[in-house]
Amino acid sequence: MKVAVIGGGWAGLAAAVELTASGAEVTLFEAGRVLGGRARGVEIDGRQLDNGQHILLGAYRDTLALMRRVGADPYELFDRRPLQVIDNTGFRLALPRMPAPLNVAWGLLTANGVSFGEKLKTALWMDGIKRRGFKLPSEMTVAKWLDAAGQTGTLRRHLWEPLCLAALNLPAERASAQLFANVLRDSLGSSHREDTDLLLPRVDLGQLLPEPAGQWLQAHGAQIRLSTRVRQITEAENGIAIDGEPFAAAIIATAPQHVGALWSAAATNFAYEPIATLYRNFEPEIKSPFPMSNHLGGHCQWVVDRGQGMLACVLSGHGDWEILDDATLAAALDQELGLPNPTGWHKVIREKRATFSAQPGLHRPDFRTTDPRVLLAGDYTWADYPATLEGAVRSGLRAARHLTKS
Ligand SMILES: Cc1cc2nc3c(=O)[nH]c(=O)nc-3n(C[C@H](O)[C@H](O)[C@H](O)COP(=O)(O)OP(=O)(O)OC[C@H]3O[C@@H](n4cnc5c(N)ncnc54)[C@H](O)[C@@H]3O)c2cc1C
Repeated sequence: MKVAVIGGGWAGLAAAVELTASGAEVTLFEAGRVLGGRARGVEIDGRQLDNGQHILLGAYRDTLALMRRVGADPYELFDRRPLQVIDNTGFRLALPRMPAPLNVAWGLLTANGVSFGEKLKTALWMDGIKRRGFKLPSEMTVAKWLDAAGQTGTLRRHLWEPLCLAALNLPAERASAQLFANVLRDSLGSSHREDTDLLLPRVDLGQLLPEPAGQWLQAHGAQIRLSTRVRQITEAENGIAIDGEPFAAAIIATAPQHVGALWSAAATNFAYEPIATLYRNFEPEIKSPFPMSNHLGGHCQWVVDRGQGMLACVLSGHGDWEILDDATLAAALDQELGLPNPTGWHKVIREKRATFSAQPGLHRPDFRTTDPRVLLAGDYTWADYPATLEGAVRSGLRAARHLTKS
């Protein structure tokens, strides 16, 4: 079976690997010059960086399995640590290496700056959510959910709101409570301790999956066409045609804003949220006590220490930072971080449509189209999650398996 996969992001790569492994003859079309889509390596001024800092969780099972399948070893490629939430005000919540759910209970109990009453109330609330299967009204925002649960104290400001912004790229006032609850279900609510681990890439994003997957695909006979934007999918005798070339079937694995140009019935009208990452060089001896920390009260929401004096400051979602030019933004962030001796080199990478807005009640299209030969993949089709690498990978695997079965 000759199958086209359109889009070489993590969803398209997952689909292409799965189809190739099941014996299909795969051609992967990618409009960009490299594989990876919104999670790719970029080379800037001789430095190997990412288009934006990414963090993965131990709960990203399908992503980790896909990496192993294509020969990328997660144990080598990630710095894996139990979850810690640390911020610039001195707040710290650290999970120990204890079996779940004891790890979460202990982390909560030992969080600093939180009264015993608030800890107890939060533990009872979390237990209640678990017993109700993390089900919430689809129209509810995270802010309304926290209000209703009486989560209005220290933990809201230092834990739940930053986690919501990190996971959904939206502030609690606008974010879907159900999608946030799903993320909590599979991480803090999981019965496997490892699911709560933070996975910080030791290499650029290209080396995590896109490059090994590309090599694996070519070694297994798949064709990869980079810098090739597909313009049209049409009916053909015994199948479909991709820009005139015949195929038995296709998986469209583009970002949501591009799907409509290829398959109008699947066009989306989502709103989008930006992410900017400022890479900043400092003296190499500057090290954060923990490689990732939250920042409250400024433009930058979290800071990742990438080693050798390189920090990545992440700005999530819309904000007044969008109107600042790169140099002004870098200067503002230097001041915010209060670190001495920036060495002069910096780079701001702005992704204007980093994620779709994971708002309450958002309609997500089905991965099946009206034509059984054309399926959709992409983070936006994995309705259980906000825009994440794991959602993208799962969506690609699902579309490929469906096609193989049918
Ligand atoms: C800065 C940033 C930070 C993020 N941080 C995190 C994080 O910490 N953790 C996390 O889990 N997620 C994070 N995400 C989200 C995550 O990157 C995305 O959810 C995921 O990469 C989406 O993958 P995808 O394959 O669905 O789509 P995409 O990556 O958008 O891939 C679609 C591909 O299709 C190609 N394409 C489009 N049209 C055509 C066409 N006509 N022909 C051929 N090719 C086409 C595009 O070039 C692109 O490569 C972040 C995203 C950004 C931008």
